[in-house]
Amino acid sequence: MPKIALFWHRRDLRQHDNAGLAAALQSGLPVVPLFIYDREILDLLPSRRDARVTFIQQQVEQLARQTEQAGGTFLAVYGRPLEVFAELARQFEGAAVYTNEDYEPYAAERDAVVAAVLQAHGATFHSFKDQVIFAKNELLGKSGKPSKVFGAYSKAWLAALQDEQLAAFPSAGLFRAGNLARLPAAPPRPTLADMGFEEFEQFVPAAELPEAALVKNYHLTRDQPGLVNSSTRRSVHLRFGTLSVRELMRQARELNPKLLNELIWRDYFMMLLWHYPFTAIESYDPRLRRVPYRNNEEEFRAWCEGRTGYPLVDAGMRELNQTGYMPNRARIAAAGFLVKHLLIDWRWGDQYFADKLLDYDMSQNVGNWQWMAGTGAVAAPWFRVYSPQNQLDAYDPQLTYVKKWVPEFGTAAYPKPIVEHKFARQRAIDTLRAAYRAAE
Ligand SMILES: Cc1cc2nc3c(=O)[nH]c(=O)nc-3n(C[C@H](O)[C@H](O)[C@H](O)COP(=O)(O)OP(=O)(O)OC[C@H]3O[C@@H](n4cnc5c(N)ncnc54)[C@H](O)[C@@H]3O)c2cc1C
Repeated sequence: MPKIALFWHRRDLRQHDNAGLAAALQSGLPVVPLFIYDREILDLLPSRRDARVTFIQQQVEQLARQTEQAGGTFLAVYGRPLEVFAELARQFEGAAVYTNEDYEPYAAERDAVVAAVLQAHGATFHSFKDQVIFAKNELLGKSGKPSKVFGAYSKAWLAALQDEQLAAFPSAGLFRAGNLARLPAAPPRPTLADMGFEEFEQFVPAAELPEAALVKNYHLTRDQPGLVNSSTRRSVHLRFGTLSVRELMRQARELNPKLLNELIWRDYFMMLLWHYPFTAIESYDPRLRRVPYRNNEEEFRAWCEGRTGYPLVDAGMRELNQTGYMPNRARIAAAGFLVKHLLIDWRWGDQYFADKLLDYDMSQNVGNWQWMAGTGAVAAPWFRVYSPQNQLDAYDPQLTYVKKWVPEFGTAAYPKPIVEHKFARQRAIDTLRAAYRAAE
């Protein structure tokens, strides 16, 4: 068997503008693209009907078809990455494995071990920055640590940006027979049923750039969840890499600085999680690690099911439960309500979103939850307690969003508020102040 390069797709399920794939195709070795349905992740999912697994499987099948049409072989394997690579390294002696960096704690550890296993088998491991513009230590504050002020980070981000950092990698043009390997016998690719999953399709917009008109108006519409085209809805594509972040950033840079700013938040939260992996399960701020959260299970269930009696929160949670998506403004209302009004540990909400969101991304979810709880490296002030009614008046004044997801709103069937706002606000402030003082 001649020497080959394996390109390992993970959060980059596309052939165009793909940094690691371009490097593999330029390596001079014939390339075999590979996807591993990782049992370390899949076995932990709470449901066998998971829209994300269906989405991934569809994208992998599409990549496989494109590879075959171009004259190559695509490998898709169900298993544990370490075992898969030990076997592949034995089969393809001296292989070079190419991939794109993944900054989540599990992925970073896994990649370190995979690299060691490959090395022990005489193979090599090469990883590339692809899903962010500035990664890891590339944009630190003056102290040599990540800046804790987003405004300072985003200013530095814009100042450091060079045109070539947003330029597309030439992977699509290089993806042709001469650069691909055709294996004599490839194992059949696993189906959802082979992996014990059922098909569960949810609406996902096309993996294309949003319409220019939407992007131009983005700053005016993004906080109006009742509008049909309120925001780009591209988060799921950024999560799975079906759209290149560089592509979307180029469009945002040209048409709307507010959208670019939101994408800079994405870079920022990825950097924070990479520096502080413990924040996936623990509050960043040590003074808020012992908050006596109430963690009332009945109230948590009411929140999950959209029965709090606060319409913007309930509409958001019902949309999430039915579609796997929730607009940012509703996420803010729902998360703020859980951690402040109900005084439930942010980790309960973080986990619920992790189970349900199609665009679930650990760095973005943890970053935003800790922001809302006031516990993060970057966070809203702990004493800020949004009024759900004011939020509703500001962001859904015609009740378009609420009526769509809570049809019984305004009738006797709609629940009374689970807790009174003023009382809950004071209780949250008193509890958090006491926690702060106790820790000082
Ligand atoms: C409690 C909470 C949990 C969240 N969990 C996730 C998550 O798991 N995955 C996720 O991708 N986003 C998360 N977000 C951020 C944001 O709500 C979503 O990215 C956004 O709603 C996705 O819709 P969109 O693509 O239409 O966004 P748009 O408004 O069109 O924004 C474009 C892109 O900018 C980025 N962006 C926008 N808002 C934010 C933000 N607040 N923080 C970071 N990046 C942002 C996203 O990549 C988004 O796709 C969360 C926000 C909150 C308040």
